Amino acid sequence: MIDLAARRGVEEAVHPAKLSQDPDVVIVGAGSAGISAARRLLAAGLSVSMLEARHRIGGRTLTVSLSGHPVDLGAHWLHAGPINPLVKLGRERGELLRRAPVEGRLFIKGRQASLSESEAFGRAFAIADRALTQAARAPEDQPAGKVLPPLGRFGPRVAAIHGLISGRPLDEVSLHDFPSMEYADNLFIAGGLGAYIARLGKGLPIRLGTAVHALDWSGQGVRVESSAGTLHAKAVIVTTPMALLQKDVIRFAPALPQPVAAAIYGFAQGVYEHVVLHWPDSPFRGPDRLASLVGKHREPPGLLTRIDGGPFHFFELDQPTAALLDHRDADAPGRFARAVLAEHFGHKAIRNLNVCRSTTWRHDPWSRASWAVVPPGLVAVRDQLKESVGERIWFAGEALSRAQWGTAGGAWEEGARAAGEIVERLKTRA
Ligand SMILES: Cc1cc2nc3c(=O)[nH]c(=O)nc-3n(C[C@H](O)[C@H](O)[C@H](O)COP(=O)(O)OP(=O)(O)OC[C@H]3O[C@@H](n4cnc5c(N)ncnc54)[C@H](O)[C@@H]3O)c2cc1C
Repeated sequence: MIDLAARRGVEEAVHPAKLSQDPDVVIVGAGSAGISAARRLLAAGLSVSMLEARHRIGGRTLTVSLSGHPVDLGAHWLHAGPINPLVKLGRERGELLRRAPVEGRLFIKGRQASLSESEAFGRAFAIADRALTQAARAPEDQPAGKVLPPLGRFGPRVAAIHGLISGRPLDEVSLHDFPSMEYADNLFIAGGLGAYIARLGKGLPIRLGTAVHALDWSGQGVRVESSAGTLHAKAVIVTTPMALLQKDVIRFAPALPQPVAAAIYGFAQGVYEHVVLHWPDSPFRGPDRLASLVGKHREPPGLLTRIDGGPFHFFELDQPTAALLDHRDADAPGRFARAVLAEHFGHKAIRNLNVCRSTTWRHDPWSRASWAVVPPGLVAVRDQLKESVGERIWFAGEALSRAQWGTAGGAWEEGARAAGEIVERLKTRA
């Protein structure tokens, strides 16, 4: 189903011109944060070399073409429109942006919910949000799941959706961190978010297929050791996901200061995976909206219907579901999605349903998770990592963003922040 020509387009978008061996700044990783940082540094007149372990750019954003339809296998939504820098930039560039529908679809035991049922569902969400926001004002942090009030029949559903978008069940998520995320006013971009990020990275000085394995900051600058040799820079921006830093994929010499290392090891791994369905005669009519299916034995954690109004749908897997399926074979997520949808809509309804892809970002050697999650009691970790290490090493990426954590927009913002700080430091040193 995958259009290899389109896929190759992403890989060939970058021509790794001879990289400078001693640039002002080396950037580790060419995902959203790395691309944003590079653009900011180059605009300020600094020289940059980017090293990317994969054979493509974009990191946890990737658009593939399925039967001619662009489908995102990673990030898909532009969240928090009013504060998302990728939305602002998209508007400036004349990109085609479209507001995501606010109202979802609610099905109860396979039938469309009545108006009063939909209103009750909406009220349960509003009550949960108020309770979370109010409880987060207390000085003591605690698991976000602990403060959800009784919400009647929709209670488990509300908790499951919040757990899905958090990347972990709410009992494993910091209450103080949870409501800091802005989630209103979401948008979609024509052609897919992964393709957009790849466009933004076009022409940047990137060497693909090059993993950084050591950073030596014992001297004046930083010595960067990679699978393609050694570079020297005045500063380095590391956008490697927290799950990989926890596995010591990069060795730091000297070792990172204790508070920085503790912050890195504080994060938990968020899991969120897409099962991509081709389901032209699904019961969901009209444009892409979120669907909630309740009232049967198995309630899917999340479903985005009719991506771009077409035949493709995302059946989302949350962390507990993905963990259960990990013990089975590679086709288990697809079979699970089919079984759940058959339970709700009947076997006849899924006759023409085909499973195109099940993503496995949690096992990908260059991500190992969908995003980083702050466990209860560790709310300071995001800000701790914003401090530079010896004014030579800066961390950036989705994990550092407070108001847009776990998103491509948050990663973009953090890449620009780290780059901006380096521009200031190098100016004052000059
Ligand atoms: C299934 C899924 C759905 C999602 N949905 C959304 C969504 O709808 N909206 C949204 O905004 N966000 C979403 N996200 C999250 C979003 O994709 C990420 O938050 C964002 O893309 C992270 O960007 P980043 O630059 O911080 O990290 P990455 O994109 O992971 O970039 C880091 C880069 O560094 C490279 N790298 C790592 N280590 C090394 C090394 N040692 N040497 C060289 N290179 C290295 C990696 O290969 C990677 O390219 C989703 C994520 C997943 C997995």
